[in-house]
Amino acid sequence: MSEQAIRVLLVEDDDDDYFLVQDYFHELGAKHYVLDRVPTFDEAVLAFHECKHDLILLDYRLGSHNGLDLIGEAKRLGCVSPIIMLTGQDDPDVDRQALTAGASDYLVKDQLNAKLLDRSIRYALRQRRLEEEIRQANEQLEQRVAARTAELARLNATLLQEIAVRKEVEGALMEADHRKDEFLALLAHELRNPLAPLVTGLEVMHDLTGSSPEEEELRLVMARQVQQLVRLVDDLLDVSRISRGKLQVQRERISIHEVVAGAVDLCRPAMDAARHRFLSQLPSQELFVLGDRVRLMQVVGNLLINAAKYTPSQGEIELLVAPREGEVAIVVRDTGIGIPAEMLPRIFELFIQVDTDLQRAHGGLGIGLTLAKQLVEMHGGRIEVSSAGAGKGSEFSVFIPLSEELHQNVPALESLTTIPEFRVLIVDDNQPAAFLLHRLLQRLGQQVTVYESPLAAFAAVPNFKPQVVISDIAMPEMSGYALARQLRLLNLEPRPTLVALTGYGQDRDRAAAYEAGFDFHLTKPVSLVELQKLFVSIATNFGST
Ligand code: ADP
Repeated sequence: MSEQAIRVLLVEDDDDDYFLVQDYFHELGAKHYVLDRVPTFDEAVLAFHECKHDLILLDYRLGSHNGLDLIGEAKRLGCVSPIIMLTGQDDPDVDRQALTAGASDYLVKDQLNAKLLDRSIRYALRQRRLEEEIRQANEQLEQRVAARTAELARLNATLLQEIAVRKEVEGALMEADHRKDEFLALLAHELRNPLAPLVTGLEVMHDLTGSSPEEEELRLVMARQVQQLVRLVDDLLDVSRISRGKLQVQRERISIHEVVAGAVDLCRPAMDAARHRFLSQLPSQELFVLGDRVRLMQVVGNLLINAAKYTPSQGEIELLVAPREGEVAIVVRDTGIGIPAEMLPRIFELFIQVDTDLQRAHGGLGIGLTLAKQLVEMHGGRIEVSSAGAGKGSEFSVFIPLSEELHQNVPALESLTTIPEFRVLIVDDNQPAAFLLHRLLQRLGQQVTVYESPLAAFAAVPNFKPQVVISDIAMPEMSGYALARQLRLLNLEPRPTLVALTGYGQDRDRAAAYEAGFDFHLTKPVSLVELQKLFVSIATNFGST
């Protein structure tokens, strides 16, 4: 394929020089080059305007102008053809100026020949092509960068918009969350108000004589339901305190045995209702922690109640307490419905409940474990859960740092030696509660016998000749009041001291106890210190009679 001829414009005022250059082009061949000539500056400017040549050969001297001016003109007119400067003499200054102004090359006329001219022209054209390619590539790159920048700007704008929307939603959510907390607090308070007279009303009904057994049974059902409501509302109150950072715990030195005794008391109705076998194992030594007795009872009580709730009836529930490397471990283990592995990590979250039939049957709000975790952590402890899966039982373990005074005795116990040993009869149908009381009394150096049945206890009195009888009040076979009355009727010598131990601490409960023949009235859960005070009083009475 034949190459197209290169169109060259020669700007030359000297005819001789023109002919010379023309000869060189003849020599190079017409099929390679077409030469046009303009002799003046102005004609050159006109030709640049059209810019139809592939290359310009420019004489340095052009009358009153010089070639450098024309290079400037070509640039101004946007003529992109490469320019080669022809100079008369070999002057390095002129050469440098020409190149700086934009010439592709410079050639000295008297050193010129056809070959040199051909090479210089081809080189300049190739150079220009490369420049053009680079320019185009650059332009494309710039276009791509511009497009990408525009795309980024668009994405950025969308992102900013999304952030703004998100911020707005987040603000609304926080506001809603805050309002929910406030609402929960208000709701709990509002619910509690009407509950108080209901509780009192039911208690008053209990004291009214003349009610039939059916009415009494009805009252008991209502009392139990109201208690359940009170518990739910109290949990709600607590949870609203947690979310508003208003939950507080006391910090005093308390006995874990007392905590556990209280917790066992709390879970007793749930354990009894489901006829579970409840086993507890406690260490012989007293363990002390710094904390809030009522709150820790609530924690352990909750775990025990859950164990009772989530274990089908006649299951087995174990409570294990043991010191372990500066902590006390309280473990509640059941043989119940267990917890699926995927639920274990979330079980302590607020309102989380495993969706099972048994779960639904028990209602509840999914607050207890959240509260337990929060309370344990407020005691510097931790709570853990494990379960081999659905139907395989669960195990909840609470660890609480022991008080540093672990190895010291309770100050109040220093005077233990001053309490003489009595024969003490405990009557309580709740086996774990009786067991704990037994343990506490042993610590006080008492000789203790436990009966879970009041009838059996009554039958054993003539032989055992108790000096002190500590009796629960609400028992299925025979109430504590009836037992006290029967004992008083026996006119025993020496006269035993009768102590009522009940969950009710109101004045009228005390009055009822004294009226039945009790000498003392203690409210559950009873602490070691209270028992110690009781026995100091009993000893004083015995001394004075
Ligand atoms: P609630 O018992 O009121 O639902 P909790 O916070 O005490 O609330 O318990 C949360 C959930 O954890 C329960 O709904 C139940 O699904 C599960 N759970 C708690 N204890 C046990 C347990 N001992 N065995 C099986 N599941 C349990």
